[in-house]
Amino acid sequence: MLVSVRQLLQHAAKHQYAIGAFNTVNLEMTLGIIRAAVEVQAPVIITVTETTIEYAGLKPITHIVETIAKNSAVNVPVALHLDHAKSFRSIAECIHAGFSSIMIDASDLPFDENVILTRQAVDYAHKRNALAQGEIGNVKTAEEFAAAADRQRYLTDPREAVAFVKATGIDTLAVAVGNVYGRGKMRQGAPPLDLDRLAAIHESIPDIPLVLHGASALKHEQLEAAIGRGIKIINIVTELELAFTDQLRQTARELPDEYDPRDLLEPSIDAVEALTADKLRLFGSEGRGRAFPKHL
Ligand SMILES: [Zn+2]
Repeated sequence: MLVSVRQLLQHAAKHQYAIGAFNTVNLEMTLGIIRAAVEVQAPVIITVTETTIEYAGLKPITHIVETIAKNSAVNVPVALHLDHAKSFRSIAECIHAGFSSIMIDASDLPFDENVILTRQAVDYAHKRNALAQGEIGNVKTAEEFAAAADRQRYLTDPREAVAFVKATGIDTLAVAVGNVYGRGKMRQGAPPLDLDRLAAIHESIPDIPLVLHGASALKHEQLEAAIGRGIKIINIVTELELAFTDQLRQTARELPDEYDPRDLLEPSIDAVEALTADKLRLFGSEGRGRAFPKHL
């Protein structure tokens, strides 16, 4: 069933688990994610980005997620979120299309400019009963982060986080605590998280659900420690894309004469499903969909 991110967060807070947020770019990834949610009976957030909207069109991708959520995940809650929006226009269009949550990503701008843009997005979202996520600190790729002369400047400062939440009124906050993006970490392993920093952020804004972007390749212990320090939403993008495309390359090699796209794509749907199910178990959200109120 289709629910709002607000409803999911309330449920997760009450039952003390973290919600997996999985990025889709097409029909097949959406099928894989939702089949996994049904398989392990876990609530999920499905995230879409502006580049996916350019690729698939806003209405098609929205309808794909909503229709599969309503028809295939009858008893499992699925919510839709716009991730990393850079433009105010896409925020407005997505909220009108039914997204219950948006992220404005102005984290590479100076603090004051980040506040101004985020505040605008928050005001717009709140008038239309949607949630808004902002980012303070700046999550980089593994390579950028490793090469940075001063890594501290990219990490979320707990005092800045307090000021940012107060100035913007955001509902959820993406933090940079050593989490990084990209494929590099898949080979070398994810760098350690700054758990003391995360705990300090959580203690200073205990009512704001924290969001861990770049969570692909994090180990079970790292995720558990992060969930224990205020992380309520865990974003998976890279690993999901790799599950899909690595499998697609393998299938194409194994079936060089196959020409039915469905036979080439079906194993990739299965790969996305298997990875998503693994992650949902790691996040502790297995079975949580069962307890979700059905009278929505
Ligand atoms: Zn992200």
